[in-house]
Amino acid sequence: MDLHFGDSRPTDEERAAVDTLLGPPVSAWDAGPGSDGSGRSEKDLRWARGGHAARERRDLLLPGLHAVNDRVGWISEGALAYLCRRLMVPPAEAYGVATFYSMFSLRPRPTTVVHACTDLACAARGADRVCAGLEAAGVSFERSPCLGLCERAPAALVVRAGESPVTAVVAPAAAGAVAEAARAPADAGPEPVAADAVPQAGQDGLVLLRRVGAVDPYSLDDYRAHGGYTALRRAFALGPAAVIREVTESGLVGRGGAAFPTGRKWQATASQPDGPHYLVCNADESEPGTFKDRVVMEGDPYAVVEAMTVAGYAVGAHRGYLYLRGEYPRALGLLENALTQARARGLLGDDVLGQGYAFDIEIRRGAGAYICGEETALFNSIEGYRGEPRSKPPFPVEKGLFGKPTAANNVETLVNVLPVLTRGAEAFAAAETKLFCVSGSVSRPGVYELPFGATLGDLLELAGKPERMRAVLLGGAAGGFVRPDEMDIPLTFEGTRAAGTTLGSGVVLVLDDRVELPRILLRIAEFFRDESCGQCVPCRVGTVRQEEALRRIADRTGAAAVDDIALLREVGRAMRDASICGLGQTAWNAVESAIDRLGAYA
Ligand code: SF4
Repeated sequence: MDLHFGDSRPTDEERAAVDTLLGPPVSAWDAGPGSDGSGRSEKDLRWARGGHAARERRDLLLPGLHAVNDRVGWISEGALAYLCRRLMVPPAEAYGVATFYSMFSLRPRPTTVVHACTDLACAARGADRVCAGLEAAGVSFERSPCLGLCERAPAALVVRAGESPVTAVVAPAAAGAVAEAARAPADAGPEPVAADAVPQAGQDGLVLLRRVGAVDPYSLDDYRAHGGYTALRRAFALGPAAVIREVTESGLVGRGGAAFPTGRKWQATASQPDGPHYLVCNADESEPGTFKDRVVMEGDPYAVVEAMTVAGYAVGAHRGYLYLRGEYPRALGLLENALTQARARGLLGDDVLGQGYAFDIEIRRGAGAYICGEETALFNSIEGYRGEPRSKPPFPVEKGLFGKPTAANNVETLVNVLPVLTRGAEAFAAAETKLFCVSGSVSRPGVYELPFGATLGDLLELAGKPERMRAVLLGGAAGGFVRPDEMDIPLTFEGTRAAGTTLGSGVVLVLDDRVELPRILLRIAEFFRDESCGQCVPCRVGTVRQEEALRRIADRTGAAAVDDIALLREVGRAMRDASICGLGQTAWNAVESAIDRLGAYA
């Protein structure tokens, strides 16, 4: 231990929260009997020599912080010190981890916390009004980055800590309804079903969304009745190498934004001699405006479990981690239920489907850090460190989670593997589809599934574009704006790249001419300033300078803005060229496109 928190002690409640997760302490060294100095036993000395076993549980630090935060609402010095003793984590490091995540507080706060989203889609649909109403009503709340509820913007999430924490989602939110939910979150009505976020639900031609709304997301039997577990049976019939071949031949590429070929990633992981191999499902979609993975997880959770099992089998992993956004309580409940049911029916565990293959999945909750969507930051987060990206190489397929070969795919990528196996690579490739998250000033916001090659105009016809459209943000905060006269851009990775923009993770945020563009750009800059992990200078300093410049020119145009725009270009170039990870490299994209394509500040 390199630093101590004085004499702070945990309360009984905090101790109980930690012990429920870790079990009771067994030695004076981990805060058990004798830790008050009353003497150490022989057993303690033996335990001390074997203390590396406790240190190997470092990956339980984040779940431990969640346990305290869920129970009490914030993390006191005494609770953190106790958790550090239990896991043999230096307090300075644990403090660094706890302060990294926006959902945790190390200062006392009320048991009930209201997170009011002020991010792009919510800002475009009146988040300021909600915040003003809450302030006027004297309701304490925290302004939150995107909650992933953009189709129902503006949104708010109420979390009440306790032995059984209660959450309530209010979306679309009005100040009065949020205040009422804060008073009695358990009485807030149920959320609309996931299918309500899919305007195409029930239509022919859907592949990835075909079960959303048609299947009972709690029922394994219903999932099987709708074709569930056909892909896993085919995977077992083919064998791991042939599964990878099929995925490679399908041409499937990652849907998280990088578009890396999935088959190549799996092959590279499977072929590593080092072990064990891990599979990670990245369900931390935090790009403002992204909510498709939430809808899939809420509407078809067993598909995610089955797809992870197929992927684990292919890459030779026996353990999978599903890293879920902390802001998705309903998805968490549905996935936990799916895992329990799958284990009970032999679809996870020591002998999956009687095929002699062992595989299980553990859910790890994020805690409000956009950067943890970057795969190496996500690994650090699971391992109990600050969610800071690692330098690459080595790449995750060689040294990923716990330093071992790891295949990391996001939810949409994984669920694509099911039709690859059930239809065959060729048939899949002939009708490959993509999910899009449409929000903002459209009449039918939601998740849409379209074949690759459909145009932006096709998508916005379905979603009901506004009469007076000002711009469309493609790819989220890390993406770029396009003009209303660019509706023929094909929605493919290549097509958007050729048009000088990006498909990213499928965000399509539509802005009408009532939206104040400088205000939106400032919000994007604030977002990157907040979410920069601070590890490298170009991003840490550049995102602050970018925000300052945008604030200065918020009400200026023409010659009055010229100097700051020149500065923005210089800072943007430095961030793009010299940042370690994609966050810094893309933090200037949207602002640049607004200046160059939309003529902002002209
Ligand atoms: S670019 Fe930004 S987010 Fe990425 S490592 Fe550097 S400081 Fe962290």
